[in-house]
Amino acid sequence: MPTIEFENVSKIYDEDTVALDDVSFTIDEGEFVILLGPSGAGKSTMLRVLNGLTEPTEGSVRIGGEELQGNRSGVGMVFQEHYLIESKTAFGNALSGALSRNGLLRSALGMHDDADKRTALEALQTVGLLDEAGQRAESMSGGQKQRVGIARALVQNPEIVLADEPVASLDPKAARDVMRYLKKAATEQDLTTITSLHQVNIAREFGDRFLGIRGGEVIFDGDADDLTMDE
Ligand code: ADP
Ligand code: ADP
Repeated sequence: MPTIEFENVSKIYDEDTVALDDVSFTIDEGEFVILLGPSGAGKSTMLRVLNGLTEPTEGSVRIGGEELQGNRSGVGMVFQEHYLIESKTAFGNALSGALSRNGLLRSALGMHDDADKRTALEALQTVGLLDEAGQRAESMSGGQKQRVGIARALVQNPEIVLADEPVASLDPKAARDVMRYLKKAATEQDLTTITSLHQVNIAREFGDRFLGIRGGEVIFDGDADDLTMDE
């Protein structure tokens, strides 16, 4: 069943910046999709449109058959910059993901219930950081911080996770670690996942399906066997 549908979607930021140019594709429930393309290709724009952070200029975007309108719950985001609160523990940062479920006020007042706390610990377990739950973000490595960022997204109990260049600022070993846990989370929780990357070799190791994007157009849609080094 298609859970994500882009139909003739264009995004034009100003007169001459066409970030997405008549893009159409569908993604089925549970797919682990990697968005590949150089800087400026339109990857972030595609993910931002999907998360309701940016409105398309033309075309239709549907999630679960429903036309996308504004910011949407059920979509978790992971970013290149982790945006963790450095002075908070891994647990506290993961727990902050419950914010979008419970409303700003409750979360700001620190009124997390036991279910939230359990969910946060489960999410840390999923990303292999249960033993580090009480460690402050500031004392963690870049790869660990990104894994906490994934845990925070999981706490929102999403159906879809969008990760925008989640490993771009990591060394290859940490990058693979983060991708491994992202894939594990996606498999365990039946998530539909779109991850943008620009490293073809890392993409190839983890992706099931690849969308190649360049100049705002999808120029490739296939599996690892179809992927050549110059995508
Ligand atoms: P990628 O994530 O692949 O690097 P982006 O979606 O960030 O690509 O950018 C696609 C194009 O849109 C680029 O030409 C970029 O400069 C432009 N762009 C991105 N965001 C904005 C914005 N807020 N305003 C104007 N142009 C933008
Ligand atoms: P703060 O920055 O306010 O100290 P933390 O990020 O340290 O917040 O933790 C947020 C909440 O989670 C607090 O209520 C804290 O007691 C609790 N907590 C922190 N670490 C753990 C842990 N490993 N297991 C269970 N609860 C924890």
